[in-house]
Formats: sequence, structure tokens, C-alpha cells
Amino acid sequence: MNLKDMDLKEIIQGFRQYLDRKLAYDNALALIFWDQSTGAPKGGAKSRAKTVGILSGEAFAMSVSDTMKGYIDALSGFKDELDAETAAMLRICARDYAAMENIPKDEFAAYSELLSEAESVWEDAKEKKDFGIFAPTLERIIKILKKFIDYRGYDGHPYNTLLDDYEPGITAADLDEFFDSIKKGIVPLLKKITAGGKRVRDDFTKIAVPQNIQEKIAGLIMTEVGFDFDRGMLKTSEHPFTNGTGRDDVRITTHYHENSFLTSLYSVLHETGHALYEQNTDAALTGTILDSGISMGIHESQSRFYENMIGRSRAFWDNMHGRIAALLPEGFDKITSEEFFLACNAVRPSLIRIEADELTYTLHIMIRYEIEKYIFSNDVDVYELPALWNEKYKEYLGIAPPDDGEGILQDVHWSSGLFGYFPSYSLGNAYAAQIYRCMSRELDVDSLVRNGDYLKIREWLTDKVHKHGSVYLPSELIQNISGEKLNAKYFLEYLYNKYGEIYNI
Ligand code: ZN
Repeated sequence: MNLKDMDLKEIIQGFRQYLDRKLAYDNALALIFWDQSTGAPKGGAKSRAKTVGILSGEAFAMSVSDTMKGYIDALSGFKDELDAETAAMLRICARDYAAMENIPKDEFAAYSELLSEAESVWEDAKEKKDFGIFAPTLERIIKILKKFIDYRGYDGHPYNTLLDDYEPGITAADLDEFFDSIKKGIVPLLKKITAGGKRVRDDFTKIAVPQNIQEKIAGLIMTEVGFDFDRGMLKTSEHPFTNGTGRDDVRITTHYHENSFLTSLYSVLHETGHALYEQNTDAALTGTILDSGISMGIHESQSRFYENMIGRSRAFWDNMHGRIAALLPEGFDKITSEEFFLACNAVRPSLIRIEADELTYTLHIMIRYEIEKYIFSNDVDVYELPALWNEKYKEYLGIAPPDDGEGILQDVHWSSGLFGYFPSYSLGNAYAAQIYRCMSRELDVDSLVRNGDYLKIREWLTDKVHKHGSVYLPSELIQNISGEKLNAKYFLEYLYNKYGEIYNI
């Protein structure tokens, strides 16, 4: 094949066929991961690992091959003539290629090997609540990532290179501004709430609810908000997640906790938000690499929108209360809709990120952001990090962990090399609030939810967000929807309105 002899149409055709093949590997890997997390027999672990190793090796080789480079160079010469979809595919492939092209293959292989062992070292350290066990591994991961950043190059701040992997276009300067507003807004609000001393009742959320009842509730709310069971399914796994192979096959999981039924209810709504994004990309994108959400942050905006803005609203409980209470064991019918609404919005500074309430959640992310930025700005001694972590929890949340297990070792991310990933969670909340505000100008969201007319909300999101798949960058998408760039102000306004009313501030 000589691309020089081909016209643009032929090059695009060849490029798309090449991507179809690569996507087939990625889809197969997604299904194996799904299978592995939702009950595949343990005995097959070794042979699955071999299959995964071969398939991911092939997929990776395709994304950094000379063929890929040939297509990128050829198509870059026609930039002004490309349709939006091909331009987006080119942008994604060129980014992936550029991220890897200057990293020596043997160093990347050594890094992958280190990561494959790191998770079990972290698990052991977490179980023993001893950061010292994980520190040498973490130190090596950070050292290699710093080297990779040097190979890849960076604009402004070294951390930007990592951020760009999860939220293309976002920089440390953007996040400094963002978290500065968050800090100035949420920290004083939290102090007022804790000082005010108002306690909302949430004891009933700990009453045991059998799994079969929780499954019925999950099915009910997924159906209500518009999950398409012909093109998706729900199973259980240790940690909830969403995956699949594009709009026609979207799978979510949850984990049922008998003594905390709201945990599963909200994780189902959260993952359903991710799933609705995937199920409603434009049919024309089916089977292409654009048939999926654009970034971690925008994806998280969809899940948080359904989990928090819809699911933790008074209107939601007014609408769902009767039907949910009818499924729950005897006694729940005495709990009012208002009591459910208040209980799911109880604010309580806590140590564990994934158990945090909607208000304090962002502070957990801010702490990780500050530490990560510090790590990639300085020559850090990793043994200092637990003290830094504890100090920040004390400063922002007013509590400090009793040990590393409930502190710096609580999240798996760093053992997988996921630095630059945490901020996406907070960006998701902020995008969600900005999108919600735009939606509220066109729709009476509260009445729609109260009347159970969730379809109109889903349709609005499909038109503005879902259908575009990965065609637009996050910054373009939010600009198109709201007429401005990401602005933390709307998230803070949303929090002040909601919690101000609940806590009489
Ligand atoms: Zn999520």
C-alpha cells in the first residue's frame, strides 16, 4: 500500500478499515474485562491473562505502527478537506501516537510490568495500613512517569501532559483557578453546616434490605430514566463500572450492600448516567472509535447529573417515593418522601472519597489534585506524602485519618499509574451543573422529574451531549452548550442553593 498514490477518499477508507480492526481488539478486551469482573470462573484466570496480553499487545502495536503514522501524515495533509468525523478520528489517533512515539519500547514494557505487580503491593499495604510497603513501588512509578513526561514534552507545567490524557485540553493553570473557586466556596459552606449543628435523620438508610428487593429498585429506576435493556444490561461486581462495545451494547454493574440500600441505588443511577451517554451516541457513529463519550470529565458529568441533580432532588423522591417504598420491607412506608430527600443529602465530612456526600466529595478530589501537582512540580520524597495528606484532610475537612489505610492508601489509582485522572471527577460535577443550568432555561426540570417525564430530559441531553460521541473536544462541547468555557460558578451556585435550603443557611 502506498498512500502517496491514493486519493483522499481511498485514504479515508483505508484509515477507517484499519481503525475497525483496532476497535475489534479493544471491544474484545472490554468484553473479557466485563466477564472477568462479573463472575468468570477463577480457574480461567491464567489463560484469560494470556489472551488479554496478546490482544492488548496487538491493539497497542496498531496505534503506534508505521501504518498508523502513514495515515496520520497523509490525512494531516488534507486537514481542511476532512469531514468532522474523520477529523475527530485523526485527532484522537494523532494524540495517542504522539503520546507514545518518543517513549523507548523497552522502558514502556518495563513500566507495564511494574504496574502489573503494583496493584497487589498496594493491596497488601492497604490491608496492613502501612504506606511503607507501597512507598518504594510508588516512588518507581512516579520516577518513570516523570521520565515519560520528559520524553513526551509539555506546555507550561509537566503535570499538563498527564491531565491531557484524561481531559484533553485542560491544564494545571485551569485547575488552579477551578479549585481555588471551589476552595473559597465549599470550605466556608461546610464550616457553616457543621457549626450550625442541624442533623438530618438517616438512620433508616442502614436498615437491611435483601438483594432481590434492591435489584427490583435498580430495574425500576433504570427503566424510568430511559435505559434501553435491549441494548444493555446490569450485573454485579466488586466495584461498579460501565463498559461495552458502543451504543448497541452498554453494560453496567453495581454492588449490593445489604445494610446500605441507597449506596446501590445511587451507584445504579450513576452508572446509568454513563450508560445513557453511550446508548445515545448518533447511530451514524456505530462501530467507529467515535461511538463513545469524549472524555472522563464529560462522562462523569452525565453520571453525576443523574446521580445528584436528578436522583438527590426533592422532585425525584416525590416522584419515586411511593413506588420505592412499596418495594422496600415493612416499615419504610412510614418514611416520607421528604425524609428520603434529606437523608440522601446528609452532609458529613468523612475520610473515604467514595463514601463522601455530594458537597464534600470535591474536597477529596482537591486534596488529590494538590498532592499530585506537588509531586510533578518537585523532587518529592514519597515518604513525606502521608503527612501531607493528613494535613490537608485536617485543613479542608476538619478530620484526619487514624492510619494510612483510611488515608493515602484508600484509592487504587496511583498503583495503576493513574496520575492526572482524579480531577476529572470534579470537572464532571462542574460540567454537570453548567449543563443543568442551560437545561433549566429550556425545560422545567423540576416538574418533569416530579411527573416522571424523564424522557424529555434524556432527549435534551442526547441532543446536546450524547449524540456527538467523541466528535467534539470537551471544551468545544461545553462552549457549544453554554456559550462559555467551564465555569465553577454554576456548581457553587447549585451547592449553595441546595444545601443553604436544607441546612437553613
Ligand atoms: Zn463515574
